[in-house]
Amino acid sequence: MSEQLVQSIRSLTNNVVIGSIETLKDYLRLPTISAQNKAIPETVEFVVQLFEDAGGESKVLDDLGGNPVVYGFFPAGPNGDSDKTLLFYNHYDVQPPEPLNEWNSEPFEPTVVDGKLVARGVADNKGDLIARLTAIKVLQQLDGGLPCNIKFMVEGEEEIGSPNLAPYLKEYKDLFKADACIWEFGGKDEEERVNMVAGIKGMAYMELTCIGADIDMHSSVGAYVDNAAWRLVQALATMRNEKNEILVKGFYDGIEEPTELEKEVVSNLPFNEEAVEKLYGLKRPLITAAKGVDPREAMVFQPTMTICGIESGYTGEGAKTVLPKSAKVKLDCRLVPGQDPNHILATIQTHLKAHGFDDIEVVLINGQKAYRSDYNHPFVAHVLETASAVYEKDPVLTPNSAGTGPMYEFGHQLQVPVVSTGVGWIESKAHAPNESVRLADFEEGVVHLAYMLTGFPAAMNKNTLEATK
Ligand SMILES: [Zn+2]
Repeated sequence: MSEQLVQSIRSLTNNVVIGSIETLKDYLRLPTISAQNKAIPETVEFVVQLFEDAGGESKVLDDLGGNPVVYGFFPAGPNGDSDKTLLFYNHYDVQPPEPLNEWNSEPFEPTVVDGKLVARGVADNKGDLIARLTAIKVLQQLDGGLPCNIKFMVEGEEEIGSPNLAPYLKEYKDLFKADACIWEFGGKDEEERVNMVAGIKGMAYMELTCIGADIDMHSSVGAYVDNAAWRLVQALATMRNEKNEILVKGFYDGIEEPTELEKEVVSNLPFNEEAVEKLYGLKRPLITAAKGVDPREAMVFQPTMTICGIESGYTGEGAKTVLPKSAKVKLDCRLVPGQDPNHILATIQTHLKAHGFDDIEVVLINGQKAYRSDYNHPFVAHVLETASAVYEKDPVLTPNSAGTGPMYEFGHQLQVPVVSTGVGWIESKAHAPNESVRLADFEEGVVHLAYMLTGFPAAMNKNTLEATK
């Protein structure tokens, strides 16, 4: 029965996919670069038109500042369950295309090469929106139409850190109300397994500055003048030991322990240490070895503290004997559920003071909390099972990604489980030149979403039964 259904979804998808790719190309021709405030009104109009062309309703929300948020709605069909709603989260903005000379084609002129569609934003995240709308078109052709209500939240500031997303979600909580959410991204790994996540790490991105003087000095004064670069390096050295343990008191406060199920899932994740070492050309063993930690566990369950860059004095060619007036470091902490970026900032400030570094200023540049859906939720199992039925290789569903995004606000405001899946692949090159999506992956992704949606109401009813038991 289900195999038959997958089969008819496959052939319906095959019929509509060519038209969808043309629509996607039009969408990709819009250079929607949020960082440069480019093509925002045209793109908003385009997205509204997409929803209307597919038979849906839409609303442009722009009363709370920032680039508008587009809301889309498709009601359940006559045989569908109008009590159940799935929400898709997407963004219509893209990253700047630079460096332009590394592109093999024009970034905003979509080009098909060897079965891949190449353009800025195709993988992150315009391709996924069109794949989702294509799944709706497929379902509209099945007897009974859409199996449930479908909502969309398409924002236009994801690539600049979603600064206005939280207020919109809060204000329009009822409009976006849903039973579950499919997040914006995903794709296949180096072994062609589709990789999905049910959560995301948070972030505390900070800048630490040490100012020692008004001007750079002749380094001979190093005999009696303190050095901002040394001070900053010494301060940093008090924050983490060589085993990668973070020594800032309170840093690990509040961390939610993973469940037995989550631990088991993570211990079975694919991880090829040699491949990682080769990929990056690593010169030292993985840092997890020193602590005897499984890198999978570190990736999913442990917070990090990373020096992203240090700037001070002279680093050009040859020698310049200088005592720098200041030193600056960018520090990112990837957080896990239970940690709060503002608390992290406070603990670091307190730590520096306690260690005699009260002259070092710390500023939080951006903060986001982590989110992890309940891995036991039937929705999580349903997305995984339907992916297993559609994709050739076994899919991988990680409790939370090692990366970051504004998922916490969705989970918190809407109280829904969130799973991220998409049509990218290992060489999608999001944010980099020659970004691409393989057309075959696009089509397969549509089939998965359509098939997943057909069983969505039943899977969610399972949840109601569990809850009332
Ligand atoms: Zn992105």
